[in-house]
Amino acid sequence: MSSASTSTPVAHNALPPPSVPSAGRSSRIAPHSHIKGLGLTPEGLANVDGAGFVGQTNAREACGVIVELIKSRKFSGRALLLVGAPGTGKTALALAVAQELGSKVPFCPMVGSEVYSTEVKKTEVLAESFRRAIGLRIKETKEVYEGEVTELTPTESENPLSGYGKTVSHVVVGLKTVKGTKQLRLDPTIYEAILKERVVVGDVIYIERNTGAVKRVGRSDAYASSYDLESETYVPLPKGDVHKRKELVQDVTLGDLDAANARPQGGQDIMSVMGSLVKSGRTEVTDKLRREVNKIVKGYVDQGVAEVIPGVVFIDEVHMLDIECFTYLNALLESPMAPTVIFATNRGNSLVRGTVDIVAPHGIPVDLLDRCMIVKTEQYTREQVGKVVHLRSIVEGLKLGSGVLERLAAEGENSSLRYALQLLTPASILANLAGRTQIEVEDIGEMGELFLDAKTSAANIGQGGFDGGK
Ligand code: ATP
Repeated sequence: MSSASTSTPVAHNALPPPSVPSAGRSSRIAPHSHIKGLGLTPEGLANVDGAGFVGQTNAREACGVIVELIKSRKFSGRALLLVGAPGTGKTALALAVAQELGSKVPFCPMVGSEVYSTEVKKTEVLAESFRRAIGLRIKETKEVYEGEVTELTPTESENPLSGYGKTVSHVVVGLKTVKGTKQLRLDPTIYEAILKERVVVGDVIYIERNTGAVKRVGRSDAYASSYDLESETYVPLPKGDVHKRKELVQDVTLGDLDAANARPQGGQDIMSVMGSLVKSGRTEVTDKLRREVNKIVKGYVDQGVAEVIPGVVFIDEVHMLDIECFTYLNALLESPMAPTVIFATNRGNSLVRGTVDIVAPHGIPVDLLDRCMIVKTEQYTREQVGKVVHLRSIVEGLKLGSGVLERLAAEGENSSLRYALQLLTPASILANLAGRTQIEVEDIGEMGELFLDAKTSAANIGQGGFDGGK
């Protein structure tokens, strides 16, 4: 049912989550790839510029306090509300909070208006985002044979079924480790897997004992060490036998497990296995299914197989939610499995959507507002806009000619930081078209002629609209 609105959280510094990653979500995070945290000193003070953050020192320090509250488990039942003009770094701050909480903490951003879907209930969209903001680290222990291939000898025999032709009846694989060489007699399906991995003598491989899955991890000349799957680096080879245990770690979210169990598939990978935990045969994520998933997860946590990692759900333009959603959010905040909740808005006093006469600060009902700690973001100076544009040009690998940064900083000061940032990529396209690798001031000028910033656009049209308000 809710696949249309499924919100895949984006691991902010890690591999994408194992479920199908949503391009929309990743592109929502990509503009913040220069943000690496709040950039605070150990005393909680904001360096003027730090961890990719420019200015916004009060807001960053306030967020630092929130991080401490979350870590000491004193923030449950509450939420952080970021208030400020568009493009003043509210999303960046929310992401930085998630980064400060830990490297694999899920960050699940959504926009208030996303709840209005024709297919999915509003509350369901919210519930799903909350589930996707709860991470689960599953530690899987596999027994494997690992070593350098010294011999790969298939043994062929007459095919007893067809009466002609030969098939591989077994294969002898020699595996060498620090302890010596061992010959394994393996079945032909494993030989097929070995061929598929293009394994040749001298390669280092491992063969999973239960499933027979084969993985080529490198060449023997690099095998002064062994390959660590999780960090994807070579680590010193442990002294051991050919036969050893390998610990694999997989990060998923409760939302991934709900979805996998609603559409279970056969297979050996962890999501398929986790997807057949609940024998439901359902195709919808229902509350009952979520409760069943919770129960199984709790069992894994109790056995020490899994660890719950609460993440951050970020709801931008929170004033777009309506009274029904706000009531539901109050309940979600109370739940013991709740992630950290961060809202953002650029509205002052507004009508609470779904009511006819309730006007409240930021369009949020007071009972929810009472739970919020409010942090304000400031407008940027020309110098600050210049610094952020400079950071982004480095991240995006764009070369800026003389005067370009100053020009963009001025554009940003007049309109907004986001407008200045948005000029970067199309300006680089113009530069490319002109056969240059570097953006020049003329490219920015041309962009200004082609595209308007919001203020100019509104001023051009005037008060009423294209018909002059008639
Ligand atoms: P909106 O209200 O429109 O959602 P926002 O307040 O969430 O806007 P962001 O999306 O966080 O603003 O900021 C716009 C862009 O500027 C992003 O690429 C963000 O990473 C960058 N940015 C904003 N503030 C800073 C800052 N203080 N330092 C570095 N980069 C920043």
